[in-house]
Amino acid sequence: MSVLVFVDHAQGTFKKNAFEAINYAAKTAEKTGGDVVAVVLGSASDSELATLGNYGATQILHCNDTRLDHFCAKAYTKAVVAAVNQSGATVIVVSANNNGKAVAPMVAAQLKAGIVAGAVDYPNTTNGFSIKKSVFSGKAFAHVNINSDKKVISLTPNTFAVAAVGGTASVQALSVDFADTDFGVKFVSEDVVKGEVPLSEAERVVSGGRGLKGPENWGILEDLAKAMNATLACSRPVADAHWRPHHEHVGQTGGTIRPNLYVAVGISGAIQHLAGVNSSKTIVVINKDADAPFFKAADYGVVGDAFEILPKLTEAVNKAKG
Ligand SMILES: Cc1cc2nc3c(=O)[nH]c(=O)nc-3n(C[C@H](O)[C@H](O)[C@H](O)COP(=O)(O)OP(=O)(O)OC[C@H]3O[C@@H](n4cnc5c(N)ncnc54)[C@H](O)[C@@H]3O)c2cc1C
Repeated sequence: MSVLVFVDHAQGTFKKNAFEAINYAAKTAEKTGGDVVAVVLGSASDSELATLGNYGATQILHCNDTRLDHFCAKAYTKAVVAAVNQSGATVIVVSANNNGKAVAPMVAAQLKAGIVAGAVDYPNTTNGFSIKKSVFSGKAFAHVNINSDKKVISLTPNTFAVAAVGGTASVQALSVDFADTDFGVKFVSEDVVKGEVPLSEAERVVSGGRGLKGPENWGILEDLAKAMNATLACSRPVADAHWRPHHEHVGQTGGTIRPNLYVAVGISGAIQHLAGVNSSKTIVVINKDADAPFFKAADYGVVGDAFEILPKLTEAVNKAKG
């Protein structure tokens, strides 16, 4: 039972989510047996493809077609299904990032496969093929058994630790018989945020909520983030009110992150916010309300006014750095 993993890349560069999905596929293949086949769509260099072996891929199927350089759900689905057929894989792993969330259910439908969307653990194969996923915005877990021959798993991103395993992978061409109608989406333009560690990759995150009162007050949060070499995030109402850009919004309807350190300032800790951040290794909460729900999820908490605490904290961090 080979395991096929669809790996996403940004202009030919693989990111943490790709390595996480390959690690997951390799752990799954230890239980099911068979190869770990990574499918890569669009332009990617040989040296970049070679990095995938280091995370557990044993084979790479590369569809080196420039029409796939920009995401198109229909064409990507066709290519992943072709890769499943070429490799004979029975388990298909996808990271549930924006592209993965679009492709996974379409692939499952075409293969008539059962799907678990948003897995948070490895498959349990002791009695069938059961996978744990979180439900009700992280309030509960469900263990879902997949009975179909082919099985699709999409992973909640940033849930599993990423580790290099030091292997190598052979590369084979994947040829797909595309029709023009497979490319129903026309790429127009892309706005790439430069100069910051993306939230999905950040080891340290400083995040602000409505408690900061308005966008004009973000300077004190930016100062702390700069001192800590951290990436900025925010709660959803902050992004909805256009105080901050939407790519900074974390939670159930925003990004899912797993930094080593998450500092939440003026955020109440609603369950929908926690759904995106509660896998962080260490959580620090600064809130003036001692009963704010976020303190229940915190490793360290400061009850107090953010406007007094943040400048002092930034000064202390800068002093400690010397
Ligand atoms: C379907 C659905 C999906 C959602 N998805 C998301 C999501 O993905 N992400 C998300 O964040 N939310 C999401 N929400 C919204 C969520 O329920 C909360 O409303 C939101 O997280 C609250 O944001 P907040 O904590 O910034 O604001 P508030 O709830 O208004 O909390 C502000 C906090 O700041 C504190 N505070 C005030 N002044 C200060 C001060 N001077 N110093 C220190 N602390 C202070 C207050 O005590 C309070 O705890 C979703 C809701 C729904 C229904």
